[in-house]
Amino acid sequence: MFLMKQDLIDRLTRYVTIDTQSNPESATTPSTEKQWDLLNLLNDELTDLGLETDIDEQGYLFATLDSNVDFDLPTVGFLAHVDTSPDFNATHVNPQIIENYDGTPIQLGKTKRTLSQDVFPAMKNVEGHTLMITDGTSLLGADDKAGVVEIMEALKYLTSHPEIKHGKIRVAFTPDEEIGRGPHQFDVERFNADFAYTMDGSEYGELQYESFNAAEAIVTCHGVNVHPGSAKDAMINAVLLGQQFNALLPQNEVPERTEGYEGFYHLMKINGDVEKTTLQYIIRDHDRNEFELRKKRLVEIKNDINSHFEDEPIEVEINDQYYNMGEKIEPNPHVIDIPKRVFERLGIPANTAPIRGGTDGSQLSYMGLPTPNIFTGCDNFHGPYEYASIDVMEKAVQVVIGIAEEVVNTYNK
Ligand SMILES: [Zn+2]
Repeated sequence: MFLMKQDLIDRLTRYVTIDTQSNPESATTPSTEKQWDLLNLLNDELTDLGLETDIDEQGYLFATLDSNVDFDLPTVGFLAHVDTSPDFNATHVNPQIIENYDGTPIQLGKTKRTLSQDVFPAMKNVEGHTLMITDGTSLLGADDKAGVVEIMEALKYLTSHPEIKHGKIRVAFTPDEEIGRGPHQFDVERFNADFAYTMDGSEYGELQYESFNAAEAIVTCHGVNVHPGSAKDAMINAVLLGQQFNALLPQNEVPERTEGYEGFYHLMKINGDVEKTTLQYIIRDHDRNEFELRKKRLVEIKNDINSHFEDEPIEVEINDQYYNMGEKIEPNPHVIDIPKRVFERLGIPANTAPIRGGTDGSQLSYMGLPTPNIFTGCDNFHGPYEYASIDVMEKAVQVVIGIAEEVVNTYNK
């Protein structure tokens, strides 16, 4: 194989030991200053590879690998995010290497935590691989530093192998994906690619181009608090209004009872007392029509309950978060056909199952940049059980290089 596993390990170690945790409470972009530590390092490393970089004040680092052919080709982009999840400790990441993983449980450092196939059956698929794991006290941050590594290693390979022909390649390393703001300040025009791929998936073979349509809803119930002894026909209990509201939703359409293409209402949080109660939902559906109907249903339930009161005690506020990128990718089939051919050539079984979530690509696709998501070889994100398979990462690097080559094969006719 043409890649050195040790190069992947060294680079991943270098990146994960830099704390780049994002912070949902912050109003700035990037949400934390420390994301600059990795962005600046990457800027230097890209420059050392001979690439031209451009970085804006919000921490969106772009770079260009120029075309080495004399005919026109579409520009392909590769994206990865530099921040790590705010859900778990991300300081003092102390990565451990397991050679030739034999499938038995691994104790994480000096902690009582164990990485075992009983809890994480997908680890069966990485037996025999070299793994990077945590010492149990922090997340690993392979989400998405593995993606950053894969893009960097592919660029390093392409710059040192000019015999491999490719068109113009654009690269983006972005902040704040984990707090849902990744694409918010992403300047699609400045990036100027025809289509792109996020290297931010999980298991070997993932090629994702169908995501949820997503919205959040806040239901606010206003009550009237009266002394319970004299409350008859006067008190309106906001807690009970909220309970009534939720009871009118289809009780089987919740995350814990749905899979595949099935959508849901997820009651995430209730806050309240007699005076005022708020219910916080997220709404998800792959089908755009069903998604619109789900939102309509919340309004209908509100109207129904309100009709029994004089001064309409329930308000509903709904905000769309992102849409199914499949809608934007379908009219551009080459965006998915190119990586499919690359997977086939490399003998990688493509798993195109719909994601029950979203990616940066879900929003970017609607901003005019069709952006499917590709596996990175990491799993158990956002916590101490996170791990990366160096073997699968190696395949992901080959996919990036392969896509660059396949663009030439596709359009040079
Ligand atoms: Zn990620």
